Formats: sequence, C-alpha cells, structure tokens
Amino acid sequence: MNQPSVESNLSEIQQNIRDACHNVNRSVEEVKIIAVTKYVSTERAQEAINSGVKHLGENRDDGFLKKWDAISNEATWHYIGTLQSKKVKNIIGKVDYIHSLDRKSLAEEIHKRAEKAVKCFIQVNVSGEDSKHGLAPEEVPGFIKTISDLHNIQIVGLMTMAPFTEEEELLRNCFRGLKSLQQEIQSMNLPFAPCTELSMGMSNDYKIAIEEGATFIRIGSALVGNEQ
Ligand SMILES: *Cc1c(COP(=O)(O)O)cnc(C)c1O
Repeated sequence: MNQPSVESNLSEIQQNIRDACHNVNRSVEEVKIIAVTKYVSTERAQEAINSGVKHLGENRDDGFLKKWDAISNEATWHYIGTLQSKKVKNIIGKVDYIHSLDRKSLAEEIHKRAEKAVKCFIQVNVSGEDSKHGLAPEEVPGFIKTISDLHNIQIVGLMTMAPFTEEEELLRNCFRGLKSLQQEIQSMNLPFAPCTELSMGMSNDYKIAIEEGATFIRIGSALVGNEQ
C-alpha cells in the first residue's frame, strides 16, 4: 500500500478551499471539512485526526461504532448515510450530527431515543434522480412543520448529494437549489430550525459547492483515499 499521506491530501484540499472562498469572497472559516472514512481503516481515520481534521463521517452504524470506540472524543461525528429507524438506538448519544433525516418516522425515532436535542440535516434530493434518497425540495417546508413538536430534533441545515457528472452547470444548479431552499426555511423563522448549514460537496465537486455556499464538505477519496 503506497498512498499519499492524509496530511499532503489535506494541504492540497485546504489550498483549493482557500481559492474557492477567494473566488466568491467567503471566509475560509465558514467551510468545515468532514473526512468520510467509510472506505478506510480506523488507523487511517486516526491519521486524519492527527493531521488536524476535526470532523469524521461514516455511513453505516457498524463502521461508525468501530471507529467511534477507538477515536471517540477526539472527533466530532457525522452520520452521513441512509439511516434505518431500527439503527438509531445504536448511534444516538454518540453521533453529533445526522445528515440524512428524510422522513417523519425517522424523526420520531430520533426524538424518542435522544436525551437531548440532536443536530440534524434534512437530506434533499435536489437533482430529482430516482437513485437518490431525500425529500423533494417542495416537500421540505411542510415536513419541517410536521416535526415541530419533536423537541429533540434541531434542524441545523440541509444536505444533498449532487448528480455524478462532470458538467459544472448541473452541479452548480443543484447546489444553488439547496441554497435557495435554505433561505426559504430561514424565512420561516422557526426556533428549532435555524438551518444555518449546508452539507454539500464531495471529492469531485467540493470547489463548486463552496462557491455556492457549502459550510460542511464531505470528502472521502480525495482526503483519506478509498481502499483499505
Ligand atoms: C461516500 C460519501 C461521501 C464521500 O465521497 P467521496 O466522493 O469519496 O468524497 C460524501 N457523502 C456521502 C453521503 C457519502 O456516502
């Protein structure tokens, strides 16, 4: 195995973040990197933390628990994958952010199991592809109203996955769609839904996502690699 260190990947990504922020007059402090460690070992996740990464993301409960046991309080933990309601009890109290809230039954389960408010992103299927999870954009304001009595749910932001394409305009439109939905939700002025964050951008498209307003980028392959 001969892959670049997380540290060298990170410094390249940080340079790209600075460039993207500079292009649109944003401050680099507004953009946080989540190292997505689902493809890699606990050792590689630890290497990311040692290199200065603060946020780790996993998309399965078993992978998350394995790394959480070893690394736990050195990181802020993000659950970024589709979440089955029956898996909530395994991760609740350990995970700091859930990026994949997409239905009322899941919100109810999180609310029931949590001892304090859980920071959640609503996953939105902006591109409309059948293969993608998430609510349609027009469903989101109504969905938020239906969970207003679940006081253990805090809607900190919106999350999307862009289409798998190199076409910049398609990517940009997707990220813009999420940004404009965020503004709509913020104008609802709901105390439990400040919706200040946008979780968008992965290895292939994070520069564009930053230019369109991302505050959390989720980077796997380009940062930690994608093989054990
Ligand atoms: C795997 C994954 C990522 C990271 O993907 P890369 O292309 O390897 O950066 C980001 N977000 C979600 C939801 C993922 O499942």
